[in-house]
Amino acid sequence: MAHSTAPQPAADLSPRRPGLPARCGVRGCGCEDPRQLRNLANLVTIIRTVASLALVATAAAQHSWPWLAAGYLTYWIGDSADGNIARFQHQETRFGAVFDVVCDRINCVSCALVFLQFIDAPWPIAVFLFQFVVVDLPLTLLPMRWPVLSPNYFFLIDRLAYTLNWHVVAKVTNTTLLITLLVLLPHHQWVALVAASTVLLIKIWSLGRVLRLRVPKDTLHVPQGALAGA
Ligand SMILES: [Zn+2]
Repeated sequence: MAHSTAPQPAADLSPRRPGLPARCGVRGCGCEDPRQLRNLANLVTIIRTVASLALVATAAAQHSWPWLAAGYLTYWIGDSADGNIARFQHQETRFGAVFDVVCDRINCVSCALVFLQFIDAPWPIAVFLFQFVVVDLPLTLLPMRWPVLSPNYFFLIDRLAYTLNWHVVAKVTNTTLLITLLVLLPHHQWVALVAASTVLLIKIWSLGRVLRLRVPKDTLHVPQGALAGA
């Protein structure tokens, strides 16, 4: 597929490293991947994953709320920190995107399971776990079939799937809504169950939509002609 030149006139389109292809100038295109795995962003991902897991394990061993809160906060703050470091230090890689998504699962699952020690809400948690691991994990890895840096740039391919799943509001909602509802309304768990089920349905629908999208044969750059598509 032919590839037009960059929208920004004076942009530096040289390869990120010698031997890599020239860049097309589209922010978030896979051609921006520096293919450098040893960077601060990935280090922060490893540290927040291990630290949160250790804090949550301590919470389980000591049956302690504050340790669980610390584990959840460590996951949450670390997860926004690694993403922001990657963005602002130009350390976004396709490997880092996948690595971050997988690490999110172990942190969120461990928090959710130990949370059950304190608030007895097996059904909302079960629906959340199914949604987050069985549906959202493959859904969030699917954008890597396209030449994008990460799901955070899937608006380059499909704006609706991006907005529902990888816009920052959608991501924050998916990792905080259930716990907020269960903490604020522990005696009205049906609210959390309805919310978790609604998210599950949106995720299943999104998975079907993204699976049906056409995958381009040219995998070097995002198709710029398709950017205006709805
Ligand atoms: Zn490109």
